[in-house]
Parts: sequence; C-alpha cells; structure tokens
Amino acid sequence: MKVPLLDLKPQYKSIKKELDEAILRVSESQQFILGNEVSKMEEEFENYLNCKHAYGVSSGTDALLLALMAIDIKPEDEVIVPTYSFFATAGVVARLFAKPIFVDNDPITFNIDPQDVKKKITSKTKAIIPVHLFGQSAEMNEIMKLAEEYNLIVIEDAAQAIGTQYKDGRFVGTIGHIGCFSFFPSKNLGCFGDGGLITTNDDKLAEIIRIKRVHGGEPKYYHKVIGGNFRLDALQAAVLRVKLPYLQSWTDKRKYNANLYNKLFIEAGLAEEPGRIKFDANNKVLLPKAIYENIQDLKNYHIYNQYIIRVEKRDELREFLTKNEIGTEIYYPVPFHLQECFAYLNHKKGDFPISEFSADTSLAIPIYPELTEEQISYVVQKIKEFFNQ
Ligand SMILES: *Cc1c(COP(=O)(O)O)cnc(C)c1O
Repeated sequence: MKVPLLDLKPQYKSIKKELDEAILRVSESQQFILGNEVSKMEEEFENYLNCKHAYGVSSGTDALLLALMAIDIKPEDEVIVPTYSFFATAGVVARLFAKPIFVDNDPITFNIDPQDVKKKITSKTKAIIPVHLFGQSAEMNEIMKLAEEYNLIVIEDAAQAIGTQYKDGRFVGTIGHIGCFSFFPSKNLGCFGDGGLITTNDDKLAEIIRIKRVHGGEPKYYHKVIGGNFRLDALQAAVLRVKLPYLQSWTDKRKYNANLYNKLFIEAGLAEEPGRIKFDANNKVLLPKAIYENIQDLKNYHIYNQYIIRVEKRDELREFLTKNEIGTEIYYPVPFHLQECFAYLNHKKGDFPISEFSADTSLAIPIYPELTEEQISYVVQKIKEFFNQ
C-alpha cells in the first residue's frame, strides 16, 4: 500500500468544478494582481478570523518580512524567535540586518517557551515572533504579558495554523499585533502557488502594511517610506475563496486522523498516552498532544498541519518507511542556532537541548484529510514492525 506524505489530487477532484470556474473567471477578467478578487478574499478572511484587517500577500515569508518592515525593524534591533521552526521565521530578521535571538521550545507542544523568552529580553529587543508550530497555538497570554511589560511587538507566525484556536477560542494570528499566514500548497489551506496573508487589529499598522505591500508609495509613485512588491495574485485569491468554506471540514478530518493514530499507537503498545516527553520501554513513540483539547467542545486547538512523532532511531525508521512506500519528512533536522548561516551568532550544540532533541527525533507521518483508515492502520502497523524486527 502506498501512503504519500501529502496528496493534493483528491482535494482538487472533490471541488474541481468550482475551482476551474474561479480560475476561468480570473482569466476572463484579465485582472491578475490585487484588485476585486483579492479585496473580496480579504473581506472573507477578516470575517472568518474575526479580525479588523487582512491583506493578501505574495507568501508567508513575505508576510513576515512585511510585518517586520511595518514596525520599522532596523539593523542591530533584536527579534526573539524560536530556534526550532521553518527557516523563514529567522531568515526575515537577518535579511533586515537585525539580530535573531533564539529561544528553546516547550517539550510537549514544540512551541516557544515564554520563560526562555523572558530571559532573552534586552534593551535592544523590539519584537517576538512566536510560531504556532505544526498547527497548535503558542502560549499567547504569557507572551502578550511580556510584550506589554517590555513594550515589544508580537508578530505571530501562523503559517502552519490557519484556523487554529487558542485556549480562549480566539484564532491565532489575531492575538498579537500582527499575524502572518502562508497558503503554500502543503499548508492546511493551500493555493495554486505561493501566497500569504497578513492580519492586524491595529488601524495604524494596517495602513502602513497596506502602503508597504506595494513599495511604500502613497499616493502611487510618491514615497515617504520604502516597501516592496508583496502583492497577491488574483488567481490565488480566487482559489482561496473557493477553498476557505471547506477548511473546517478538512481540519475535522485531520483531527480525526490524529486521534486515530494516537489510539492505534497506544493499542500497538508503542505509547501509553499523547504528550509524553521521554522514551522508555512502554513509550517507544512519543505522540503529539493538543494540550487544550476538550472533548466537550469542538474548537481547533490543534489543526495538525503536521502530525509529528518522535522516535530514537528516527533516521532508520524513516528509511524503513520509505522502503515500504510510506512518505515522511523531518521538520526540522537543524535548529537555527546550529545552521551555518547563523554561525556568526556563536552558538554551539547543547545551547537549546529541547530543540536539539526534537530535531534529532521528530518525524512527520502522513496526516492529510483524504487518508483512509486502512492507510493509517498500515502506517502504524509498519512502525510496529520496525520496532519488532
Ligand atoms: C511555510 C512557513 C513559512 C513560510 O511560508 P511561505 O508561504 O512558504 O513563504 C513561514 N513560517 C513557517 C513556520 C512555515 O511553516
């Protein structure tokens, strides 16, 4: 049985007619950049996320870069980021010649550890970028408290977390000062190329973001400030407008798949419960945990953009699964503090032990909505076989 890490074709097939019509509509309009399609999409995301302003942008990375440009990050400013995330989170800081300051993660959620954030705040700190990694919210109340106390801006990297709710029900990306989303095809809501969204409830920041999205000209060709080309294509907006109403049903399916995996891993004797952080004879596989999950309500405490297990012999397991036609990926093999491009920050192995442990042991296994129960059972069965051989 083949189980790819992600297969986008069944989703496309299920809504092909609507998508094809939307694309044709844009073709016929011959209006490709921003315009009516993007404005409509922005309104729909404002309603969905319950936030005041949403702007379509060229990618999740550009959303983060534009956010930092909107708050005027300057060379030598310090921006606190988790050391364990997708590269863009730290890359955008360094691209503006500011200094990324790394912090370690929580061992259960993989998210930024607020206590470590507090330790890293200096007089140069301007902003914190919590990442809602793999689709679960970071501990936002504690981060916002620190931001208030030290007068810092919070930019949420919600690239993997469209539709994720914090413990109080608010959507992530609307809790900090600015939220950044990605519509890269492998995210829970993907467009047909690169795309992103930037959100804020602050009218002043919204105006700066709007202007800097198009080179900073206001009026056009008159520049008080410098921005960039961070525009979204109308084609991407049209695709996203078709897909947004289906997002919750896809998220429900991912949550169902994650719970099924957890149950099957426990039944297979490979784990005792989700959220363990240490290996032992009864916990050869560490399972992800939605820490706010409450069976009584149906909020999206975890949207499982990725379902991440941790195992000691990760690379061997990965090889075994590849041989058995099961797709996997390592998110992420090298934390930022050990990346060559950040050698100038003078970190060494051992500086962020939880992130290093995650980088050495984590493995993403297939979780996309259209997986069948047979495929999920097959994956667990093969992992059990690996441990029994
Ligand atoms: C995907 C991702 C991004 C970047 O989004 P792109 O649309 O690919 O530029 C940023 N941060 C995180 C955590 C991501 O997963």
